[in-house]
Amino acid sequence: MKIIDMHNRNSKYTVRCDRATILGNPCSRPGAPCPICNKVHFGPGMKQLTPCRSIQCYRTWLWIEFEKENKELIAAIKAIKHDDTLACWCCEKEGTAIFLDQVVCHCQILFRAWRFLNEEVYP
Ligand SMILES: [Zn+2]
Ligand SMILES: [Zn+2]
Repeated sequence: MKIIDMHNRNSKYTVRCDRATILGNPCSRPGAPCPICNKVHFGPGMKQLTPCRSIQCYRTWLWIEFEKENKELIAAIKAIKHDDTLACWCCEKEGTAIFLDQVVCHCQILFRAWRFLNEEVYP
């Protein structure tokens, strides 16, 4: 598994994970209150307004969706394969760096969720 930053035009990916897709982070919409904490995490041009980058809120949101049995979302995460390259706009990470590095991108949480759903390993 790899995460690539779509700002880098040379990076190829297999699964797009930004807000244009179901795998995106609904807590990071610029100018919109977060559905979990009600803070606005990002301003125009994705200017960061809170220290947390909405990552913990995304994690909470994901678990709420799992508890609600959001079938479409669960299926989309389960469909991710070991050799897929996830694409977002935050970072480039590969292998163990995805879960060992500081979490800066919701794709790192997505990876943990994928492991949980597919291999029953607690994230
Ligand atoms: Zn939030
Ligand atoms: Zn990201």
